[in-house]
Amino acid sequence: MKLEEFQAKKLFGEYGIPVPDGIMVTTAEEARSAAEKIECPVVVKAQVQAGGRGKAGGVKLAGTPAEAYMAAESILGMDIKSFRVERLLVDPAVSIAGEYYVGITIDRRKKLPVMMASASGGVDIEKVAAETPDQIFFQDINPERGLRSFEARQIAFLLFPDKKKALAAASIMMKLWDCFHGVDASLVEINPLAELEDGSIIALDAKIVLDDNAMFKHPFMEEMRLPTPSEKKELDAKSHGLSYVQLEGDIGCMVNGAGLAMATMDIIKHLGGTPANFLDIGGSSSPEKVIHAMELLVSDSNVKAVFINVFGGITRCDDVATGLVAALQEIRTDIPPLVIRLTGTNEEEGIRILSDFGITALKDMTEGAREAIRLAGEGGCS
Ligand code: GDP
Ligand code: MN
Repeated sequence: MKLEEFQAKKLFGEYGIPVPDGIMVTTAEEARSAAEKIECPVVVKAQVQAGGRGKAGGVKLAGTPAEAYMAAESILGMDIKSFRVERLLVDPAVSIAGEYYVGITIDRRKKLPVMMASASGGVDIEKVAAETPDQIFFQDINPERGLRSFEARQIAFLLFPDKKKALAAASIMMKLWDCFHGVDASLVEINPLAELEDGSIIALDAKIVLDDNAMFKHPFMEEMRLPTPSEKKELDAKSHGLSYVQLEGDIGCMVNGAGLAMATMDIIKHLGGTPANFLDIGGSSSPEKVIHAMELLVSDSNVKAVFINVFGGITRCDDVATGLVAALQEIRTDIPPLVIRLTGTNEEEGIRILSDFGITALKDMTEGAREAIRLAGEGGCS
């Protein structure tokens, strides 16, 4: 779960990391009053679960409350990396003397948390990483001992030759580790970690990605979830007993069992197609579940064909067939061409139910995947 900047800054603040004292707003009018409260100049910042807002025009300085209003008007509703801007952070603006980078994530190869830091922070850190990787310093972190103060100081002095600034940065790094560990993050990032004209060091931007597998340990964090449209769909699916993940392809998949769902996506890919989703309808396939699953697939306008792949074990093919017929009768919208592969327990019965309804079921998975790819291709051309 990704947090937006205003949420991440709040958590950073709780861990003692210096952050500007800003106000989150949702309208231009509120941005104006926030600017009056904070005292100008302010910086008006788009809140989306993505970086690169500065370059996209989503971060604007405002010298007066009226300017803050105008900046907010122009940023609200903007599309940044396919996120629509619905919230803004109004922060007191500061004079920046230097922009640095600090982040902590998990190094999967080393199976350790790692801190990364650079004196070349700011909006071009990806370019630094790609072109001059030697400008990024790494510090492995022993997860049991945590980041040690001498390790933080070593890195901080590589960034700031000045002792006072280096110690301030080292203290922020220690708190950043406490935060990473405390909230069970998979990523925490400060970019820029800014040196101000008065020599102080503060976090001007904040990014936190929380590990969903640890959310049960932090129930209050669930309240911070700001689901994106595709996450809303996934949560809705979950409440109906389906596990659904939207992808970018054009073949909708409906499968019973997570393993078979993965195998179905693999075979589609292998044969040159692209799955539009992962969808596991689970063991028991009541008509309601199948109807809901079908609605999910149909609501994705990228879907050009649907491949239903069922292996009857505990799930009986006749139940799935009955559910499917009910779903097709209920859903009135245009349904993309379907391919059904049905095999296993009670398959003869299932196939008969479907053929009474005018649907031919296949028994072979590869054949089914190939047919779905063909139909998606035809759909794409028309
Ligand atoms: P990002 O582009 O999504 O990473 O958004 P950031 O929060 O990092 O903001 C982008 C850039 O805006 C920063 O690198 C700064 O150069 C600039 N910026 C942000 N806040 C301030 C501020 O208070 N004063 C000034 N002068 N610049 C700021
Ligand atoms: Mn940034």
